[in-house]
Order: sequence, then C-alpha cells, then structure tokens
Amino acid sequence: MRYAIVSDIHANLEAFTAVLEDIEKWGGVEKVFCLGDIVDYGPNPHECIELLRLRDHIAVSGNHDLAAIGKIDTIDFYPDAVVANLWTSRQLTPTDIGYLRGLPPVIELDNFTLVHASPRNPAWEYVTSPEVAGENLPYFKSPSCLVGHTHKPVIFRYQENGGCSLDQFTEDIELVLGQDRLMLNPGGVGQPRDGDPRASYAIYDSESMAVRLCRVAYDIATTQAKMLKCGLPTGLISRLSHGR
Ligand code: ZN
Repeated sequence: MRYAIVSDIHANLEAFTAVLEDIEKWGGVEKVFCLGDIVDYGPNPHECIELLRLRDHIAVSGNHDLAAIGKIDTIDFYPDAVVANLWTSRQLTPTDIGYLRGLPPVIELDNFTLVHASPRNPAWEYVTSPEVAGENLPYFKSPSCLVGHTHKPVIFRYQENGGCSLDQFTEDIELVLGQDRLMLNPGGVGQPRDGDPRASYAIYDSESMAVRLCRVAYDIATTQAKMLKCGLPTGLISRLSHGR
C-alpha cells in the first residue's frame, strides 16, 4: 500500500492542492498520514480541513489546530501567530471544530508513530538536533516516528551505540526502512522553512519499504494575495516567498 505523509498544511489551499495533484503524478496513494497543523497562518483553514476529509486519512493534532479551537493557550505564540490564530478561530465551522477536537495527539501503528512535534511532547517540542531526537527515543515503540512542527525535512537515524545522526532529507534520497530506528520529518506543505519555498511531503510504499521526499511548486502569489485580503500579518505573507 502507498501512503502520503503530509504535515503543516497551515490553511494553504494552493500548496495542499498542488501536493494532492503531485501525489497523483507519482501514481497515487491509498491513504494520507497527516501530522497536524492543518490550520492557522494561511487563508483557507475550512477548505483545507474539507479537502483532507475527502481523502482516506488519519491525522494527529498540532499546536495550531489546538489553539484555533481554544484547547491550548496562545501565550507562547509570537505576536503574528496570535493575530493569525484569532482570525483562524473565527473561520472554522462547528463541523471543523468538532473534527479538530477529535484529533488525537499520538497515533501508534505497527511501523510508525505519528505525532506533530515530538513523542515526548506531541504539541510543542521542536526536534531540531540529534540530541533532542535521541532524548525522544524512549518515548516511541514503533521502528520509526513521523514528526512535523519544524517545517524542515530531516532524517534522524538512531545508532546501536546510543547515538543519533542527522541527515538532510532531500528528493534524491530513496530511504529504505530496515533495521535502523528513525525519526522522519517530511517538511511542511503550507509553510516550508528550510529555504525552499516549494511544498514538501513524502510518499511511503509499504511493499518496497521506501520513503521518498517530494517537493512541488505552487501558486504562492495567489495564497499571498488571499492572505493580504484577509488582513493576515505581512510577515507571514512574505515568508512564503523565501521558504523561511
Ligand atoms: Zn506548523
């Protein structure tokens, strides 16, 4: 079976649509794994939830999903994020709120554990270094863990000596899952932050056990024009051009 691994859609309908179209170019998938932050920052929270719900999928909650429905406080958000979150919370329908409220923080499968941020702290912790990834190893049982939250594609590989290494996750790597335990981040769909503004996601084929990172260009200008019209903060609008 083939799966798409998407994270941090962030209400960016153009990016999410481009990803779904790109998935079809690669031969399609049976199921979507979504690692949270479906909403917030971008101009189409309701539409992105609806589009995801049209697909056979499983999803965990992200910190921005939880903040948008008042389940966590925005006290630790930076000012632009507070403004965007307030705007987002006003766009959600009762059905959207019910859907987001029902998302679990962690999903454990045979091969993968799905969380938004980290298995130790599913809503908040940024796994940006091998040290932090290493500290999280005791918190998941499956061979691999899928995380989002940083919006940067990366592969953490746990070594037998207790160490952990970091590899950039790029399109030219075909990662075949084997003996090693891994923590994988597919990057962000709707607000990439690794310096490449193209939407980022991954496809997993359970037969070949291979995970491949995919990048796809989307109509950034249209998303930015919508954000401007909605009165979303300019810093959030301009960063889409740079992927930072
Ligand atoms: Zn995010």
